[in-house]
Amino acid sequence: MIDALIRPHLKEFKPYVSARSEVLDAQIFLDANELPVKNPVSPAEMNLNRYPDPFQIDLRKTLATMLSVTPEMIFTGVGSDEIIDLLIRLFCEPGRDSVAIIDPTYGVYKVAADLNAIRTISLQLNQQFQLDVTGIKTTIEPNTKLVFLCSPNNPTGNVLKGEDITALCSATNAIIVADQAYVEFARPSDDLAGSALEHENLVVLRTFSKAWGLAGIRLGYCVANERTVSYLLRIKSPYNVSAITSRLATNALKNRVFLRNSISTIVAERARLAESLQSLAVVVHVYPSEANFLLVEFNDAVRVYESLRGAGIIVRRRSEPRLRNCLRLTVGTSEENDLVLSNIRKLG
Ligand code: PMP
Repeated sequence: MIDALIRPHLKEFKPYVSARSEVLDAQIFLDANELPVKNPVSPAEMNLNRYPDPFQIDLRKTLATMLSVTPEMIFTGVGSDEIIDLLIRLFCEPGRDSVAIIDPTYGVYKVAADLNAIRTISLQLNQQFQLDVTGIKTTIEPNTKLVFLCSPNNPTGNVLKGEDITALCSATNAIIVADQAYVEFARPSDDLAGSALEHENLVVLRTFSKAWGLAGIRLGYCVANERTVSYLLRIKSPYNVSAITSRLATNALKNRVFLRNSISTIVAERARLAESLQSLAVVVHVYPSEANFLLVEFNDAVRVYESLRGAGIIVRRRSEPRLRNCLRLTVGTSEENDLVLSNIRKLG
């Protein structure tokens, strides 16, 4: 199935073979035109004069163990944003194929499609911000190659029903991209990574930018069918993930206590912030959230935005009609959240 979906010219595509993709175990490396000595800015224990492993084998093994899948089902990228772009470039032929985007959702899916000259089919989440599975099935076209879903969804914060996502996998020939950037803040049962073992056309996107607290290292990964991963490995730029990034990510994966604590702190703050906001006069509705942010409807979002801005606090505005008067507030530290609350409270 995957091979039938790949852009024709990429089926026989000859990838760049980097010096380091062939031999890793030598004593003297004179193959990659690197400098033989270290720059003094390198951390002592790292050989940053050398290129990193192009296939990130150790990191992918560690992630695979954590997720109970094989390393061949894991692909790592420069943030999940790079993987979104690569998926479009792998599957979508300009002028012929399309991608489906279910709004309101994360803006990069449309930007990445536009950048690659790929038409988007715009659908809407239903009243409860859930998928209309039948509507999606009947609206997408035979050449709709990717359906982007986001769960928990940015900016609404809710989790999409897992059975709807897997039903879409079974009912369509498209690749279903389930972006789970925020899943660590949701219930463990909402994690779809394991479903990629059963659904050849499911790609689950994950990131170190949220619960792991490592947005600055730019590391995302996906869990997908081995065939999809093997194509992604062929089309990526030769050394996309840096040695520093993979070192820090590998170390971070060893410290589960930090992850557990950060999740429980954010989840507790999320509940406190939601409850406090709901009691304020200018707040119309706080949407339930399984992520590290809250979508909040105000009686006058511009006024709240400007007032927070004046206090040096920046939150996210959205422009679409369905989210008129809504702001998306990231859950910060309890001091930061108190400042948000006290500033909004002053508005009456
Ligand atoms: N997906 C969603 C839903 C996001 O909100 C974000 C970042 N805001 C990303 C992906 C991109 O994450 P990364 O930092 O891994 O590129």
